[in-house]
Amino acid sequence: MNAAKRKLIFERLAAANASPTTELEYENTFQLLIAVLLSAQATDKSVNLATRHIFDTCKTSQDILDMGLDTFTEKIRTIGLYKTKAKNALATCAILQEQYQGVVPDSRQALEALPGVGRKTANVVLNTAFGQPAMAVDTHIFRVSNRTGLAPGKNVREVEDKLMRFVPRQYLLDAHHWLILHGRYICVARTPKCAQCGIEDLCEFKEKNLGAAERRPARTTGTARPAKKAALKKTAKPVKKTIKEVA
Ligand code: SF4
Repeated sequence: MNAAKRKLIFERLAAANASPTTELEYENTFQLLIAVLLSAQATDKSVNLATRHIFDTCKTSQDILDMGLDTFTEKIRTIGLYKTKAKNALATCAILQEQYQGVVPDSRQALEALPGVGRKTANVVLNTAFGQPAMAVDTHIFRVSNRTGLAPGKNVREVEDKLMRFVPRQYLLDAHHWLILHGRYICVARTPKCAQCGIEDLCEFKEKNLGAAERRPARTTGTARPAKKAALKKTAKPVKKTIKEVA
């Protein structure tokens, strides 16, 4: 895919959703870290259902340490791999208290040293909480990047590195959220909604799902298609609170 097409793709995604963000619910950086840690191999929806009953009283790492491992484990038991995640979350809270006075560090190295925090989790926190252009490649971004030809790669790291190189600088900060939302609601895994896709004429996927009756004429302008715009607007929820402080 050439640079002009990549730029057009992001122009359209930006026109359809000017302020994309995570669908995880949180009120501060500490809660975001815990929510992302819990979200591995789980849906944001399932994480939100569990964390709502924790984050209403737990705003800091000390709050979760005070809650204790058994209670915390019980509260997240609807999330996959909950026992391991609970242990990691409590261990992370202990380190935050002992080494960082409860403040979530803003460096990749420090984040990845926390139990249960891998490169993807660190990328989400660096990007969403600290405004750093990082690309957390999940299953949706991996699929969209490969199908469209935006940043094809055999593994998540290859896709991440290509996205960091190929995404136009002005779109780097929000690219990760745009691509996740596009993969979650339009370019879905089994049957992509190509006929409703706002970047269909730019996408290089060879097996598009374009029903003859639904096929729309290809567009080459930088504007978003109404159908796509509506779809993204409906699904992209505003963040509960802008991150300005760290717990
Ligand atoms: S045209 Fe289809 S395959 Fe390409 S990005 Fe859109 S939904 Fe995905």
